[in-house]
Amino acid sequence: MISQKMIEFVKNGSAIRAMFEEGKIMAEKYGKENIYDFSLGNPSVAPPSSVRKAVKDIIENEPEMLVHGYMNNSGFEDVRTVISKSVNDKNSTSFTEKNIIMTVGAAGALNIVFKTLLNAGDEVILFAPYFGEYNNYIANYDGKHIVVKPNFESFSIDFDDFESKITKKTKAVILNNPNNPTGAVYSEDDIKRLASILESKQKEYGISIYLISDEPYREVVYGDVKVPYLTKYYKNTFVAYSYSKTLSLPGERIGYLVVNNDMDDFDDIISALGVANRILGYVNAPSLFQRVVARCVYDTSDISIYEENKNILYKALSDYGYECVEPKGAFYMFPKCFIDDDKEFCKQAKEFRLIIVPGSTFACSGYFRISYCVDKKTVLNSLESFKMLADKYK
Ligand code: PLP
Repeated sequence: MISQKMIEFVKNGSAIRAMFEEGKIMAEKYGKENIYDFSLGNPSVAPPSSVRKAVKDIIENEPEMLVHGYMNNSGFEDVRTVISKSVNDKNSTSFTEKNIIMTVGAAGALNIVFKTLLNAGDEVILFAPYFGEYNNYIANYDGKHIVVKPNFESFSIDFDDFESKITKKTKAVILNNPNNPTGAVYSEDDIKRLASILESKQKEYGISIYLISDEPYREVVYGDVKVPYLTKYYKNTFVAYSYSKTLSLPGERIGYLVVNNDMDDFDDIISALGVANRILGYVNAPSLFQRVVARCVYDTSDISIYEENKNILYKALSDYGYECVEPKGAFYMFPKCFIDDDKEFCKQAKEFRLIIVPGSTFACSGYFRISYCVDKKTVLNSLESFKMLADKYK
């Protein structure tokens, strides 16, 4: 018999994955080109050519026993040094390899942080709408997720609700910037206000509250939008970064965690993170791709393709009467459904061969998510279907 905990995880299994599977069945029935599958956040743009070049060069020229061997649990030191320098260049910070831990994507980074910090019953605050897997990651370590209600106007933060949700048991807060599923980017003013609330609550309760900035989409931003670097605003900050989206390498499972120098209990936390990275079922982040990303720290996939898709969809959907906050980053859009029941709405969308994800998957019912990391042709061909879906409710 499987464990009680796994029974719960299986019951709450990913709705997004289920829709993706359904999309595959529909594609077989109607033909792939006639299905507009906006379910998964799987990048549609190829990695930059520097990735392939790096793979070849490393395989041909670096010592095999180094490339394929075990290393320090936190990752290769030379790789962590290169990454720390690139973070410093981009954000005017002053990290060294000691602040960087190579991880199995952002998911790995978040899990080692929770493994390190959480006692059973500790609370982690999430801002709705949010990436649904956070609930599972927190439950892995018997933590409790606490949800701050959405701010529908801009998908920024409802600060009053946030403040009211902080208790003596609050151990961490996750901010996902740019945001999945809304595409919102939290501004510097938002971050300053968030930091000041956290500072005063830490003092009031005499506790440490850690801020985890989950940033797999840091470089996927449009126009002149800037994503503030959170360690500069609040000392108890971790940054979880991933190459899954910005270098289009989700299957390679590579990312890193930045641990801010002057956070409370830095030394204990760093050693615990190293152990957590070893005992979660893997002993380090994949070695080949640690070495690859170190050669591509200033590169990204062609983000302009996502921006073009966003512009086409945002304009068309607004014209058809959908209410939507224009995304500033990531490759998601989060419009309002024409009915309250988002699951029913997404079911109806299938009549028009649209696969979209109900907002309740992200703790925000009445909305739906479009992942527009797809071909431009799919976006253009889908517009008529979005129009028919809107017309159905007029
Ligand atoms: N955090 C957010 C907000 C995501 O959207 C995702 C993946 O879609 C992850 C974390 C996990 O990313 P990774 O593939 O780097 O583990």
